[in-house]
Amino acid sequence: MTRVFCVGELLIDFVAEHQGSDLSKATTFTKKAGGAPANVACAVAKLGGKSNFIGCIGNDPFGTFLLDVLKKEGVDVSLSQRAKTFTTLAFVSIGEDGERDFVFSRGADKKLKYDPAIKKLFDRNMVHFGAATALLGGGLEEAYSHYLFDALTKETFISFDPNYRADLWRENEAEFIKKCMPFIEKSHLCKFSLEEAQLLSGKEDLNEACVYFHEMGAKIITVTLGKEGTYVSTEGLRATVPSVKVSPVDTTGAGDAFIGCLLHQISELANFQSVFEDRELLRSMVLKANKAGAITTTKYGAIVALPTPEQLETA
Ligand code: ATP
Repeated sequence: MTRVFCVGELLIDFVAEHQGSDLSKATTFTKKAGGAPANVACAVAKLGGKSNFIGCIGNDPFGTFLLDVLKKEGVDVSLSQRAKTFTTLAFVSIGEDGERDFVFSRGADKKLKYDPAIKKLFDRNMVHFGAATALLGGGLEEAYSHYLFDALTKETFISFDPNYRADLWRENEAEFIKKCMPFIEKSHLCKFSLEEAQLLSGKEDLNEACVYFHEMGAKIITVTLGKEGTYVSTEGLRATVPSVKVSPVDTTGAGDAFIGCLLHQISELANFQSVFEDRELLRSMVLKANKAGAITTTKYGAIVALPTPEQLETA
């Protein structure tokens, strides 16, 4: 089994308790571990895989809390760093109109320092670039491009989720698109939402968007479509793979569970090549990853809601 290295942010989400109030009115917040790449690392570990988190948290109690959560889930955090600043914080509420209200206080995640010693660990393993904050500058962005280069020289399976956040990029979409391009060009697997696929390709039509991404170099494209399942595109396969029926209560982390489950299945292959060549294998993997996403929507929170292997078997 190969190891999945997840690079990016680990942060505290302070979630306003009463849905329907904006942040100016919210008074009570629940502290939750957040950060998409950290969720993916947890999803892999919970399914029995080997995962590492590479990122930076603060040298404060929040950093300690976050590392404890990851360790409890079985993620190897020995490559994470602690900076002499506060852990990155996000305050989130969902207003009556369903719109998210969001205040972001960026701290330690941007202080990640590139570690050249990690390169040899990538050898024939997998790296997932899935941070929402990575392209916002700082040490994390620098480390991100170094690790992409390292992965290319080490026969590493490269996975990319741009994790577009309108709150962070609305004013600067062109720059976001430009910064994503090297990752799309070099990735074996890209995971997009419909909004991301359309934004990054400049094409409304999903088929045309995928043709564009393949021409750039991406080998497998998955576009997650909520309850409709996932559109998957690779050589010889272009199809919407359905999901299972569930009663969702909170969709946070469904995309991370999806990609974590897909990466875990790929990590169990003796040879990565088979996922590019065997379309029925890829389809069955996406079907299972859809179940992981669906199960995650049935509980509040991202990490606690991630599925166990037993839940996946019975879904
Ligand atoms: P995130 O908000 O975590 O970034 P995302 O928008 O990328 O997630 P979704 O499309 O919400 O991801 O969900 C990922 C996958 O989980 C979907 O492709 C689908 O297979 C499954 N899924 C999500 N919501 C539901 C649902 N309501 N019913 C069934 N399956 C679902």
